[in-house]
Amino acid sequence: MAVQQELDFDIDYGSPSATRGISVFSQEFDAHFAYMGDDLGAVYTPDGTSFRLWAPTASQARLVLYREGEGGDGEELPLERSYRGTWALHHTSDLRNRFYTYKVLVGEQWNEAVDPYAKALGINGDRGVIVDMAATNPQGWNKVKPPLDDSIDTIIYELHVRDMTSHPASGAVHKGKYLGLAQAGTCGPDGVATGLDHIASLGITHVQLLPIYDYSTLSVDERTPEERYNWGYDPKNYNAPEGSYAVDPYDPLSRIRELKQLIQAFHDRGIRVIMDVVYNHVYDGYRINFTKLVPGYYLRYTENGELADGSFCGNETASERQMMRKFIVDSILHWAQEYHIDGFRFDLMGLHDVETMQIIRQSLDRLDPSILMLGEGWAMECELPPQDRANQGNAPRLKRIGQFNDHLRNAVKGSPFFGPDSGFVGGAGYLGDEVRKGVAGAIYYNDQLYSYASEPDQTINYVECHDNYTLWDKLKLVAGRDEETVKAMHRLSTAIVMTSQGIPFLHAGQEFMRTKQGVENSYQSPDTINWMDWSRAAKRWDDVEFVRQLIKLRREHPAFRMKTAADIRSHLRFEAAPEQSVAYTLRDYAGGDTSRHLYILYHACPGDSCLTLPELGQWQLRFGGEHVHSLTGNRLHVYGIAMVVLEVL
Ligand code: CA
Repeated sequence: MAVQQELDFDIDYGSPSATRGISVFSQEFDAHFAYMGDDLGAVYTPDGTSFRLWAPTASQARLVLYREGEGGDGEELPLERSYRGTWALHHTSDLRNRFYTYKVLVGEQWNEAVDPYAKALGINGDRGVIVDMAATNPQGWNKVKPPLDDSIDTIIYELHVRDMTSHPASGAVHKGKYLGLAQAGTCGPDGVATGLDHIASLGITHVQLLPIYDYSTLSVDERTPEERYNWGYDPKNYNAPEGSYAVDPYDPLSRIRELKQLIQAFHDRGIRVIMDVVYNHVYDGYRINFTKLVPGYYLRYTENGELADGSFCGNETASERQMMRKFIVDSILHWAQEYHIDGFRFDLMGLHDVETMQIIRQSLDRLDPSILMLGEGWAMECELPPQDRANQGNAPRLKRIGQFNDHLRNAVKGSPFFGPDSGFVGGAGYLGDEVRKGVAGAIYYNDQLYSYASEPDQTINYVECHDNYTLWDKLKLVAGRDEETVKAMHRLSTAIVMTSQGIPFLHAGQEFMRTKQGVENSYQSPDTINWMDWSRAAKRWDDVEFVRQLIKLRREHPAFRMKTAADIRSHLRFEAAPEQSVAYTLRDYAGGDTSRHLYILYHACPGDSCLTLPELGQWQLRFGGEHVHSLTGNRLHVYGIAMVVLEVL
C-alpha cells in the first residue's frame, strides 16, 4: 500500500487543518481506505479467533486480551498491517469469553479502545468479549415471527424496559430488568395484569423499546443501577445490550441471553419488537471508541473545525462517510439477524443522509421486507446539504420508512413546548384542517390538505411519546383542574390517533392516562416519576378498556388502514361538521372493509350538536354511543367531547 506508507498522520482531535498527506476529512480518504469486507471485529470458532480492525491512521496496533471485564493486566499481541487500512490477527487458541480491547498508536499517542464491532461486553462496556453467539440463545429461541400482513396493520406501543416493572407493585421478580418484563402472569393492585400480560391484553402489534444497546456509564453505572435512571440516548457500544437491565451485568452472556428471552417472550405472545437506535450521535465525541481508533473520521465538523452539534448532544456522526455508513448498516443487520428484531426507530433521522437510509431499507428487504423502519424526520439544521437530509421534506425518496407526524400531534393536543397552548381537542377549532391532514395519512389529498408523505405507511401518528409532557400532564395545563374534561380530551386524542390513516403509535401508560407529575422531560428523573404506576392502572381500568376497544375497532376495520394514497383519495370524504369538530366518511368498503360505509365524528365541543349525515343508507352506532342523544334517519344528536363512529352495513 504505497499511498499508505507516504502518509504522515499528525492528527489533533477534531482539527481538520492538522493532517498532512490525505486528510481523514477528505473524500480521497474513503477512496483509499474504505473497507467493505464482512470480517471486522472478532470472529470466533473453537479452533481460533480472527480479528480485523479498521484503523488507517494508526502506525501500530495491538490486541489486548484480559481475564476480567475490569482491572488486571492485559496480554498485548501485535496486529499486522493489512489491506485498506485494516489490521489483522488470527489467534489459534480457544478465546471464548475472554475480554479484549485494541490499542492503536496515532501520532505520538497510544489509545486503548473497545472494538466498535464487539458483540459482547464486560461491566459498563469498557471491554469487549470474544463470544460464541450460539451459546447465548435461550431455551425456545426460534426465528418464527408473529404474522403481519402489511406494515400498515402495525400498532406501536413504546416502552422503557425498566419502567414496566420498576414499580413496587408490579409483581415482577426481577424488577426493572429484561427478565422482569419477560415474566408472564404478573399481577398488581386489585389483581390487575402488569408488564408483559398487560401489554399483550391491549391488542397492539409491536412494542418499541427505548434504547437497549449499551449506553453511557455516566447515565447509569451498571455496578449500581438503582442509583440512577436514564432513557439511554447516549450510545457507548452499539452492538451489545445495555448491562443495567441484566440480572448479572458482570457476566457478558447475561445481558445477551436475557434480552433474547424478552424478545422471545414478546414473539410468543404475537408481538413484534422495534428497537430504538441512536446512530446520529455518540455519548462523547472525544472519548468514544470511534474517535480513539480513527480520530476525526466518524463525526461531522463545522467549517471552523468544531464538532457539529445538529443533535444538540455535542456531536453528530457522519453517516455519509463510507465506514460510518457501513457500521450503521452492519449494526442494524446484526440486531435483525442475531436478536430477531422486527423494526428500527431512528432517533433524529433527519441528521442521517438519504442514501444511508435507502441502503438500510434495501439491506433489510433482502433479509425480511416486513421489518419496519421509522424515524424522527425533523427538519433540523446540520452540516448535510438540505437535499441529503433524511427528513419529511425528502419523504418521496424515503419509501417505506415511517416518519413521526409532529403536525398532527401538535394540532390535536397543542404545542408540546408550551404547556397551556391548546389544540383541537382543547377547542381550537381553527386547527381542523391540520387534523384533516393527519386523518388522511399526511399524503397529498388535495391542494388544501397535503403534509409530506407519498404513501400512508410513511406517517406515524401519535399524541404522546417518551419526550415532553405526557398527554395527561399536557392536557391538565390546557384544561386546568377539571379532570372529567381532561379525561374526555385525552380519550378523543387517542381516538384520533387510532382512526387516522397511517401507523398509530401509543406511549406506554397512555391507556391509563399516565402522569409524570408534570415533569416535562423525565430522561433522568427517578423511577418514582418514570415507572408504570400499576395502582393508577388498576384505578383507571375503564380508560384501559377504552383503549382496548379503540385498538379492536382499528383491527376490525381495514378502512382505517388503507394501504395506498390513491385508495385514501378515492374512499375518504370529509363531511360538513359544526365548529370544533371534524367529520368524514370512509366509503364503499374502503380498504376491503366489511362495513359498506363508516362515518367518523371527532366532536371537540363540550356542548350539544345536531348533524345531518350523508344519505348513504341506514346509519347505525358503531362506537361512542354513550355520547349520542339520538340517531334518527340522517339526523345525529351528540353531546360532549368524544369520538362517535357510525356504520352502514
Ligand atoms: Ca452501559
